[in-house]
Amino acid sequence: NEDQFKKVVSHAKEYGYIFASSEIYDGLSAVYDYAQNGVELKKNIREYWWRSMVYMHQNIVGIDSAILMHPTTWKASGHVDAFNDPLIDNKDSKKRYRADVLIEEYAEKQYQKAQKEIEKAKVRFGDNFDEQQFITTNPRVVKYLEEQRNVLARMAHSLEKEDLADVKALIEELEIADPETGSRNWTEVRQFNLMFGTKLGASAENAMDLYLRPETAQGIFVNFLNVQKSGRMKIPFGIAQTGKAFRNEIVARQFIFRMREFEQMEMQFFVRPGEELKWYEYWKETRLKWHLSLGMGEENYRFHDHEKLAHYANAAADIEFNFPFGFKELEGIHSRTDFDLKAHEKFSGKKLQFFDPELNENYVPYVVETSIGLDRMFLAVLSHSLQDETLEDGSVRTVLKLPAILAPVKAAILPLVKKDGLPEIAQNIIQNLQWDYNVIYDEKDAVGRRYRRQDAVGTPFCITVDHQTLEDNTVTIRYRDSMQQERIKIEEISEKMKETISY
Ligand code: ATP
Repeated sequence: NEDQFKKVVSHAKEYGYIFASSEIYDGLSAVYDYAQNGVELKKNIREYWWRSMVYMHQNIVGIDSAILMHPTTWKASGHVDAFNDPLIDNKDSKKRYRADVLIEEYAEKQYQKAQKEIEKAKVRFGDNFDEQQFITTNPRVVKYLEEQRNVLARMAHSLEKEDLADVKALIEELEIADPETGSRNWTEVRQFNLMFGTKLGASAENAMDLYLRPETAQGIFVNFLNVQKSGRMKIPFGIAQTGKAFRNEIVARQFIFRMREFEQMEMQFFVRPGEELKWYEYWKETRLKWHLSLGMGEENYRFHDHEKLAHYANAAADIEFNFPFGFKELEGIHSRTDFDLKAHEKFSGKKLQFFDPELNENYVPYVVETSIGLDRMFLAVLSHSLQDETLEDGSVRTVLKLPAILAPVKAAILPLVKKDGLPEIAQNIIQNLQWDYNVIYDEKDAVGRRYRRQDAVGTPFCITVDHQTLEDNTVTIRYRDSMQQERIKIEEISEKMKETISY
């Protein structure tokens, strides 16, 4: 909900996760900087992805291609002609919106209304509740879900036919208003290309028009044969990459959910023509498992199978996550056919084919891709983890229950007091742990305050050095989630941490 989302945004700033870009100049819209803790969380998510994709699959390798690419790339990929979003202005507020996003939000509200009815009925009927039957027979639920489906179907149809007048008509019929001002005074809907342009070269006459890449995938396609040959890869095989992408997004009011400069983690899997749907199913399942492995609740994910397909795809699904503002796309899995490689063959005049020794034939492989926004994943993790917990004594603690493997700081080492040799012992512990973990030292304020500060940052362990340590070399280890404390030997700290923090 709204409140939770606001809390996430302000927590992210207060605890060194995310700042607005160039904040001293009042920021740059939909552009953000990752702060000292944010950069660590982001790096850890990237690493979690990279290990599972590249190290855990013998037939997947990584690359890091350039952001700037030959401009013909974007003609071949279709981005010059077809990378548009339907834009609508509100005449009163002068605010711009994506028409499709406004309609999707309306549809999501219908879905939420249905969910509310279902929840109410669950409470009412208790153990006798048959959810499937209720969904298909309760008139209100049926109405909401039908409305949701119809609205999305009509929008998809209109966008496919580029019937922008009908998109506008739909907005009027549904009485959708400006989410910020409530005004319903709209302009026509028009298409808007999302690519950022720039120039290469010093003199105006010779300068070449370039684009900042709007997706990392094309850097993989154009390198497909180089990697295949130099890596002696056999189909099926994959190429993975993480890196920045740029889109001049119209809607810029959802924090890091939709940014103008963001990072993607993509993997293109090259397969035999005809086997793509098998691999598409495989990757849908494998990617969902990756998400679930973080323990953020099965109920917070759902698949959304696309009925309307992009020009390059023959099957596509999103993995949606339950963000504070509802279920929204987190990752896409697309069966892209041979569209991209064929297009690059055509525009470059170079063959991009694989000789399959088992079939004894040459072909352009089909591609199944998995594409996830790193920043969006960051938002999913952050918003899910931020919790206000009421304790036994009635006080409330704010705790960031990040999956320990992703936490920016793994342990805080705290001397109980700033004297009697305790700080020196704490520093010694740090010197041993810092080879394996990002750990920090904190000696300011009472230890209870320090615990709370680490709870808010999401640090899974606090290690406290006290006077007993001087006698028997033991310390207190405190666990963030349970707040339980245990006495262990200094030599055991690393092992103890490893139990929770290892791949
Ligand atoms: P949307 O419909 O939300 O604009 P999309 O379908 O255009 O997304 P893709 O082109 O499939 O997105 O990109 C793959 C992934 O990249 C998305 O699932 C999302 O996680 C991420 N992504 C796309 N655009 C942005 C953005 N502007 N800011 C942050 N992440 C993004």
